[in-house]
This record gives sequence, C-alpha cells and structure tokens, in this order.
Amino acid sequence: MRPFAYARAASADGAIATLRRHPSGAYLAGGTNVVDLIKLDVAQPDLLVDVNLLPYASIDRLPDGSVRIGALARMSDTADHPLIRENAPAVSSALLQSASAQLRNMASIGGNVLQRTRCPYFRDTATPCNKRRNGEGCSATGGDDRTMAILGASASCIATHPSDFAVAMIATDATIHLRGPSGERTVPFAGFHRLPGSDPTRDTIIAPGELITGVSFVPSAVTRKATYLKVRDRASYEFALVSVAAGLDVQGGTIRAVRLALGGVAHAPWRAQAAEAALIGKAPTRENFLAAADAELRAAKPQRLNAFKVPMARNAIARALATAGATA
Ligand code: SF4
Repeated sequence: MRPFAYARAASADGAIATLRRHPSGAYLAGGTNVVDLIKLDVAQPDLLVDVNLLPYASIDRLPDGSVRIGALARMSDTADHPLIRENAPAVSSALLQSASAQLRNMASIGGNVLQRTRCPYFRDTATPCNKRRNGEGCSATGGDDRTMAILGASASCIATHPSDFAVAMIATDATIHLRGPSGERTVPFAGFHRLPGSDPTRDTIIAPGELITGVSFVPSAVTRKATYLKVRDRASYEFALVSVAAGLDVQGGTIRAVRLALGGVAHAPWRAQAAEAALIGKAPTRENFLAAADAELRAAKPQRLNAFKVPMARNAIARALATAGATA
C-alpha cells in the first residue's frame, strides 16, 4: 500500500478547501470502498480528508414534507429509521440486502452512492481497464462478462453499478445535495450517475472537490407502496445480478403512478421509463407487467455470457410490480 497523509476536517468548507489544495486527495467517511481500493492500488490518493465530524449524519423530516438523509448516516441506521421504513420501504429493504451487517454499520450513505464498480478487472491492476486508465482496453469485453451490463454499455466499458440503495432512491425521484468550491447545488439522483460512453473513468457528474451532503425525497403513495427485489448468486453479502425497485399507486383497479428502477444491468442505476410509460392507466396484471418489462428490455444488448439477465430482469420486474401492487 502506498503511503498517504491524513487530515480530519472540522467544517465542510475546511474539507473542501483542503481537497482543493490536494487535487489527488479523497474524502474519507466509512472507508469501506476507498480503503479497499487503496489496498488494491486501484486508488492512489496522496491525502485522505476525514469528514466524519461534519454535521451530516441525521435523518430528518424537513418543513416542506420531504425526508432528508445526511450523507454521513450509516447504512444500518438509515435502513432502520422509522422515516425510511414508513415512507420508503424499498430503500430500507435495498440497504438491508446490501453488503454485510458489519459493512452496513460502517458504510455511509454518501459513500454508498459513490462506490465504484465491482468489475473484477477494475480491481485487478494486472489487467487492462479503461475505467482505471482510459485507452488501455476493456478486459471484460470478450472475457468473463457474466455479471456485466445489458443496457447502456459502450465499447469502452460494460461494467455495472453496484449500489442497491441508489436503485431504490431513483425510484423515489430523489435529489442529491452537493457542496463544493462553487457553493451548494442539487441534482436529480437519476441524473447523478453516468453511462460510460467514451470516458468510463468518471462514474458520476460530481465536480472535483464536491461533497455529497445528503439525499432527499418527497414521500408519496408510490414511495410508500414500494418493494425492492434483488436476484443474486447467494442469499447474502453479494451484489445483484438483477435488482428491481418498484412502487405502484393503484386506484379503482387502474395504475395511477408507477416508479420502476433496475440494478445490476447498467453502468448506472437504471430508471425504467419505457416500462413506466407502458403501465400508466393499465390494470395491475401480470400480463401488463410483462409487456412493460418487454418495452424496457427491447433495448437490451447482452454480453457473451449474460443473455440470461434479460429473462431474469423480465421476470423480476413482473414479480416486483406484483409485490408492490399487493401492498397498494
Ligand atoms: Fe474496466 Fe469497465 Fe472493462 Fe470492467 S468493464 S474491465 S471496469 S473498462
């Protein structure tokens, strides 16, 4: 492991100013991803700025009715919080189906959003990877691509995003709150993560030195009547092959509102807008759920070893919608 300096920030502006002076540095919260990547020599920050003392750990109902989760809230605390369990059960479930209990106790919400792909080639510095160094090539293309993307991939990168939380959050129409050298701004959660295009080195639209301070959503019928289904190779401590966050508002036998997002299928958490559009005004039947899934998956382009993800996603979408519908 390469040596790096350590600094503890007492204020957000102090943290931002420190990182501005050290553009090769990184923020440290739970450390469950960045320290991993340092040990693997995938990340080589010259400085870690510890932000754990900053006042971003609470989960609150705001005066406008929205729920805000501080970026330093731990995954386990967020999953168990009454405001999350009552207003966004899919978010709580997604967190509880992530990682292990020990990791959930340590990992922060901001770090979860920023965690990097688990593509095995990305984490192995002996193999070429465009995400580590653009132009090297993609070892997964033509290699072991079983867990890779079926939607939105590019010739440069076919990796998937690993966060369950992010999938559930984009199905709540959430917002991300950022603070950086130019002040504060908010961005839609659904637009925060990038598709790889010709530059897979960047996972998100976050600017250099910016901190995530929190995420928020407005509770509604579709966030309260929602579920998270995760399909994986083993029952715990495993990333999704396919996951689905589904929220459904059914009135008088007709779907009035629906939120659908997929994980394990793309470089970014995937909002299934074609499927959502296909469901509005329809009856909540398995036939309509499958037709909506087909509308979304028409664009799927499986890799050599993962064509199974297409029917898996189709069935998972139908099952998650049926589960959400049963609570509606
Ligand atoms: Fe790297 Fe992406 Fe290819 Fe994996 S899929 S080896 S992360 S470029």
